[in-house]
Amino acid sequence: MTSQRTRDRMVTRLQRQGIDKEGVLDVMRQVPRHIFVDEALAHRAYEDTALPIGYGQTISQPYIVAQMTQLLLEDGIPSSVLEIGTGCGYQTAILASIFPQVYSVERIEALYLQARQRLAELDFYNVQLRHTDGNAGWPNLSYYFDRIIMTAACTEVPRALVAQLKEGGVMVLPFDSGRDQTMTKITRGKDGLVFEPLEKVAFVPLLPGLE
Ligand code: SAH
Repeated sequence: MTSQRTRDRMVTRLQRQGIDKEGVLDVMRQVPRHIFVDEALAHRAYEDTALPIGYGQTISQPYIVAQMTQLLLEDGIPSSVLEIGTGCGYQTAILASIFPQVYSVERIEALYLQARQRLAELDFYNVQLRHTDGNAGWPNLSYYFDRIIMTAACTEVPRALVAQLKEGGVMVLPFDSGRDQTMTKITRGKDGLVFEPLEKVAFVPLLPGLE
């Protein structure tokens, strides 16, 4: 249920769903997704579904993780990426297998601590984690990241995140209109932000403050 063969089958399914970047398929084949969920759910880790990770949060379904990663790579492999919403750390591990430098923030301390332990056990040394409110981005930094990925839905793009995105940089996030959520690719151009709405999605909300 948690074997390489199960992961290979997940990747075949991802290809059918339209994921075609070899680099993304390769890391989805390698990273052990079952390590990031509760032992009782490990046998379901490779199903194409979101799963609970405690504290009312969920690990995104494999297709969404792959699709968001693929969107971050459309314009080449950049050096730094900031993730808002570490959760269980699976998306973080996927990013860290591709990007040289990964920064990730989580507002729930218990999830942050658990992700930190898992990522260390799997020897991801190029990841920096913080227990902080992602509405403010990475603390004390401005104009820095090539890519920003948000794994919780926002009703407006936090200004701090725009400030921490390099010019020409790309942000991928679920945008909540109040009616529904849309995966959105946002590019910081010379004259401001360019929004590219993509598919409909369902994410937990971006929340303020710490837990
Ligand atoms: N990428 C994660 C997704 C977890 S769900 C995974 O695969 O497990 C979204 C996560 O965003 C939750 O863990 C939630 O606590 C976190 N989150 C929500 N609002 C946040 C905020 N303002 N700052 C940081 N993390 C936030």
